[in-house]
Amino acid sequence: MSIHHSIPREKLGVALVGLGEYSSGQLGPALKATAYCSLTAVVSGSEEKRKKWQDEYQLKSENLYSYADFDRIKDNTDIDIVYIVLPNSMHAEYTIRAARAGKHVICEKPLATTVEDGKRMIEACNEAGVRLSVGYRLHFDLFHQELMRLGRGRTLGKVRRIIADDSMAIGEKDQWRVKGSLAGGGPLMNNGIYCVQAAQYITGQLPVAVNASFLPKTDPEKFKDVEEGIQWEMEFVDGTVAICESSYARDGNFLRAEADDGWFELSPAYEYSGLKGRASTGEMIFPEVNQQALQMDDFAICIKNNKTSRVSGEMGLRDLIILKAIYKSASGGRKEPLDLDAFAQP
Ligand code: NAD
Repeated sequence: MSIHHSIPREKLGVALVGLGEYSSGQLGPALKATAYCSLTAVVSGSEEKRKKWQDEYQLKSENLYSYADFDRIKDNTDIDIVYIVLPNSMHAEYTIRAARAGKHVICEKPLATTVEDGKRMIEACNEAGVRLSVGYRLHFDLFHQELMRLGRGRTLGKVRRIIADDSMAIGEKDQWRVKGSLAGGGPLMNNGIYCVQAAQYITGQLPVAVNASFLPKTDPEKFKDVEEGIQWEMEFVDGTVAICESSYARDGNFLRAEADDGWFELSPAYEYSGLKGRASTGEMIFPEVNQQALQMDDFAICIKNNKTSRVSGEMGLRDLIILKAIYKSASGGRKEPLDLDAFAQP
């Protein structure tokens, strides 16, 4: 055995699958800042992109994969974690293939586009004995951790009402985000999921019902496949309510909690950086962190310690069930009850 092989690799190796904007702009750079994992492989349909990433990240030639030869990663000991960064409807196939290759998986949000797919992904990871995590980066941001502390700890009294808006004016009409078959839905799937998440991690509770309505379409051509905007309420068992909205027709980035003895809010709330927070007790001051680097390092530590990720596949499935209930309520025009007893309290 060569000396090289006898030295245990301290950092877990990550393969990024899909080299689009989020990989290029956020995950790749974050993997230069991680302490417990590093980029060792890429999977892309474009040879040009693979070469570009090889140069920038000093990847071995044998660690560049196309989608067709992706399954060969099972023989590659440089890869411990596969990170799926593809359009939503492709998450299931690639997560399952990665699990069958014996690799731990981080899958971007939303976990999948159907509840059935989400369940199959979790099953495949369980069968293979690998961990599954969702790219819920905000759990690792200090401002959001403060909201969790204030909300669940009842520091300013019990939270009665949450107001959340995550919206973005979307450009080009040919992108996958407005194609139902690839995105599985519109702004709710892409942005609203952050509001659904926040309502749960601030209250520390699971919703018992949702009530939703679609917003009118101002551009029916661009949004022929998916909703242009949607508003919804999430009800919790103790009467707390979250009032949420998400749109592709305008920008919006706001999260507020109103409690018995005060309030706290973030604006912008869901960005990678530059978050600003205030509470009835004063401004929130926290250093900026690299959300994605902390998220990936946390997963690497979970794997090393054989622990479930705090942003697990089950949490992704739970949220997908809530998103589907929101769509059902908006389509049917009535409140939808939710039974999430199978899931752990947030
Ligand atoms: P993107 O369009 O920039 O990249 C998608 C990649 O998938 C591209 O490289 C594209 O070539 C590839 N691809 C393969 N097959 C495709 C197909 N049939 N159609 C379209 N593209 C195909 O998208 P993105 O912004 O990088 O998003 C990818 C995933 O990451 C999505 O699930 C999204 O929700 C998630 N995301 C998460 C965050 C976050 O903050 N956690 C931010 C952005 C995106």
